[in-house]
Amino acid sequence: MRASAGRRLLPASGVKSMPKDQSVPARDLPEAVKSRPTGFDQPLHESIARLTGGLSPLALSQAYADWAQHLWLSPDKQTELVQKAAQKWQRLFAYGARAAIDSACPACIEPLPQDKRFADQTWQHWPFNGLYQSFLLAQQWWHNATIGVPGVSRHHEDIVSFAARQVLDVVSPDQFPTDIPVKDFGEAAILPGLVDSHVHINEPGRTEWEGFRTATRAAAAGGYTLLVDMPLNCLPATTTVSALEAKRAAASGQCCVDWMPWGGVVSDNQEQIESLAVAGVPGFKCFLVHPGIDGFTMVNEQELRAALPHVARTGLPLLVHAELPRPVEDATVRLAQADWSKYTTYLQSRPDEAEISAIQLMLSLCREYRFRLHIVHLATSRALDMLRAAKSEGLPVSVETCPHYLHFSSENIPDGQTLFKCAPPIRGQENREKLWQGLRDGVIDLVATDHSPCPPEMKRMSERSFRTAWGGIASLSLALPVMWTDARARKFSLSDIARWMAEGPARLAACESRKGRLAEGFDADFVVFDPEAEFIASEDHLHYRHRVSPYLGENLRGVVKATYLRGNCIFAEGEFPGPPAGREFRQ
Ligand SMILES: [Zn+2]
Repeated sequence: MRASAGRRLLPASGVKSMPKDQSVPARDLPEAVKSRPTGFDQPLHESIARLTGGLSPLALSQAYADWAQHLWLSPDKQTELVQKAAQKWQRLFAYGARAAIDSACPACIEPLPQDKRFADQTWQHWPFNGLYQSFLLAQQWWHNATIGVPGVSRHHEDIVSFAARQVLDVVSPDQFPTDIPVKDFGEAAILPGLVDSHVHINEPGRTEWEGFRTATRAAAAGGYTLLVDMPLNCLPATTTVSALEAKRAAASGQCCVDWMPWGGVVSDNQEQIESLAVAGVPGFKCFLVHPGIDGFTMVNEQELRAALPHVARTGLPLLVHAELPRPVEDATVRLAQADWSKYTTYLQSRPDEAEISAIQLMLSLCREYRFRLHIVHLATSRALDMLRAAKSEGLPVSVETCPHYLHFSSENIPDGQTLFKCAPPIRGQENREKLWQGLRDGVIDLVATDHSPCPPEMKRMSERSFRTAWGGIASLSLALPVMWTDARARKFSLSDIARWMAEGPARLAACESRKGRLAEGFDADFVVFDPEAEFIASEDHLHYRHRVSPYLGENLRGVVKATYLRGNCIFAEGEFPGPPAGREFRQ
């Protein structure tokens, strides 16, 4: 969403070419239609093809054969009708053809009365009427938010649900056609579906930690409509094309929201990098320090130098866990006899210098190899000046931080509370405020969760040891209210939230042409968010596999009322209606 107050609207985004939709389900056309798939004349076909921007001739033929059967019009008259409609409703028509093709439901097309058949308004009486109803009217101002929902009949709803997969327009209330049924969300805000570019789903291989089904449910409950999965913790790690295919197989049919896979860059897979890019990963992740788990090796400078020419050739970003091992190892040796139930011991074991030296190294390599560098989960504010300078220099670098670094501070973490362990660690209050300033200044581009769950026993709660506990904080279902609670207190707006948590991550994962904004041509992914409601975070709000969280008991502001994926409600008031409809986002 672009505007957070008053009735300002999205800037007109112009007419975009129709994105290809790769998931058009198999047609269920009547036999009569199947038997004559090219049953209409060529000029009509060409005129539709021109208007619809590249739908396959066979699909057009099927649709038009279907329509022609029920309209009782000669090919000449069809052409005339289509052209008239096109002149007046060109954009709408383009979507309309797609909708009709997908629904393939001749039963809902009423033959017109003889006297209306060729009148100027004819198009209003046949499928276009349903399409017109489907005009998804998402508004950008956040009071009295209203979404147009379609459907004058069951058949038309079918048509509409397809057409509504994309936002067709964003208009003000006074532009609302009066005859369109609307669903009024009252005082709630409508934000674009959030995109989380940093999630550890752990499937296949460690599904007992998390999994596609549970992670994507938690995501839907949290207002996310697309997750980008990290290449580690799953088995096999996503460092080869065959591992990527195994992940795709594991995800299939399980996901409540869309997803994408990051590929891994490890010590010995340089030769896989470009094939992973061809196979569809939007970028790569590497660790400069041991990732806390075996099976995904860290990379040193020499191994990076072997990998970076390949990464640069793909043009895809390299996401870097930026801590160097030396400062961590040195500090850990010094702290060998320290009390590891104290949070300060853990904090001292992962000093700011580990992050700073890693970022320095990566910036110099970025200057040398000119690849797209992304620093994940920045925890130290002491690197912000360096990152600001790198950006002003024109280096292709982007930066993320996480809700837990913006919400918690080390001063308030009780000893023994290993739920707060993550790497890099949550630092002090002053550092936290500087991270917020980094967001305000635009040095930090986006906020991702680094959702990284594990079975509760791995948190070693009874042992109370920050040395042995698994590091990772799971927050998919709470990140939006956590962020809004803190952002609002610092006078940020919901537009800022949408920029950090939807548009920014979508750009990183190269899905920004269809995800991360509410604008014409984008997937109709949105979250209905009540920014004023408050709640106390409890296990019932978590929805991921293991309901543990350092946020439990916190009073948070902002409630996710509903989440929509491509126009279909996937979460509302604690329920998950419909079968899992998420799929991999592919270019
Ligand atoms: Zn992570």
